[in-house]
Parts: sequence; C-alpha cells; structure tokens
Amino acid sequence: MRIQLLPSTFDAHGVANLEQRLTCFLIDDCVAVDAGSIAIALTNEQRSKVRNIIVTHPHMDHVASLPIFIDDLYPSLQQPMRIYATQEVIELLERDVFNWNVYPRFSDLKNDYGPVMEYVPIPIGKPFNVAHLNVVAVPVNHIVPTVGLVVSDGKRSVAFSSDTSETEEFWKILNEMKDLDALLIEASFPNRLAKLATVSRHFTPATLGQELKKLTHNGMDIMAVHLKATYRDEIIAQLNALNIPKLSVMEPGRIYEW
Ligand SMILES: [Zn+2]
Ligand SMILES: [Zn+2]
Repeated sequence: MRIQLLPSTFDAHGVANLEQRLTCFLIDDCVAVDAGSIAIALTNEQRSKVRNIIVTHPHMDHVASLPIFIDDLYPSLQQPMRIYATQEVIELLERDVFNWNVYPRFSDLKNDYGPVMEYVPIPIGKPFNVAHLNVVAVPVNHIVPTVGLVVSDGKRSVAFSSDTSETEEFWKILNEMKDLDALLIEASFPNRLAKLATVSRHFTPATLGQELKKLTHNGMDIMAVHLKATYRDEIIAQLNALNIPKLSVMEPGRIYEW
C-alpha cells in the first residue's frame, strides 16, 4: 500500500513545505482519506484517478479544499465523486459546507454524464469496501463526531487515528489484529499547550506517549501526523524524547510503502 500525506503549501520552486496545515492522505494514488489539501497538491494523474474520498470528520483542516476539488472537476466527472462518511458527518457537511451558502450542494447537481457527488454512509465497526480497499471505521474521542480507520488492501494494513485524544475502542481493534504494518497517529500540540490540547481533544507528545501504552506494539511503524505547523520543531523534539521504537514523523509529500 502506498500512502502519501499531501503537502499543504509549496515554495516558489514547487517544493513541498514540510509544515502540515491541512490533512489529506492519498492511498495507492486513488483513494483519499480526508481532503484538506486535495485541490492543492494532487498531480494531474492523481486528479484523474481520485473518485473516492473518506472523510473522518468535518473540521476545516480535513475538508478545506474538498468543495474546490469537486468544482474543478465538475464538467469532466464521468462518475460521481463518492464521499464516504458516517451519517452524522454527512449531515454536518450538508448543513455547514455544501449548503448553497458556503458552496453549492453538489449532491443535488448533475453534469452531462450524471450526478457529480454522492454520499456513501459508512457503518461503524463493520468492514466496507472503498475501491480495492477494505476499511473499518472506529469512533475516536474528538470534539465533533470523528472516526479512526483501519485500511487493508488484502496484504497490508494501516491504521489512521484521525484527530483524537484518549480513546479505547480504537486500541481494542488494533490490538485484536494479527498484522498491522503502520499506525498514523496525531500529535497536534507541544507539551506546554496541554490544556489547549485537552479542550480541543488532541494529543501532545506526553499524552500520546501515555496513550501508546495501550497499544500492543508488534514492530509496526508509528508515524506522527497532524503536527500544528507553528510548533512543528518543538513537537518533533518532544516526540523524539519519548524514545518509542519505530516512532517517526510523517513527511508531507513523501511516498511511504507498506
Ligand atoms: Zn479535528
Ligand atoms: Zn485536524
């Protein structure tokens, strides 16, 4: 499985900025997990392939450029863009984003080929398919309804925490798996902003270190993501000081293979 955390910004030479502001992971060049930077960072080839997007929750850093992405592709979409999300997240997207005020309700619109956007409500705790992938969604502990994901391609499995703080069900499911190749987990704020992390339901390196004690570590790669750009260096230093085996920080733009 190939996974790329899409960059949020580029320098004048088109080189990806390592600071992550928006969240969007691209799996095997065709399925997106969240869509923060989806309209900004895809190559033309990727843009022509991505027709399935899983939205973990409706926060702006996870959906910011989703409306623009669909808008850009509007006349050329020969199949609807499928948005996979829980029913409550779908309702929030319809109410707060695709509401005719912030942006058009694309789920009501058609181009010459047919509907341009379609919601696919996803179950909790039961496997469903997205393109060639098998996915399980697990509720996590964030300030709005949010799911973590376990994604498998039949050979390899990768877990995405999405945005979360202390949680239980996610770890239970991960610990029951025989093979998990990688865990992508959030680490949003430095330790000195623990209060802010708590009220916004995110991790600091210290709380993440505690939380990872719930994980049966089978040698998987643990990739920290969602580091707030303003504090990136400070968070990295604090993550390194945890001395957790195989814990590293995921680099936007780089392609990882599991
Ligand atoms: Zn969030
Ligand atoms: Zn976020």
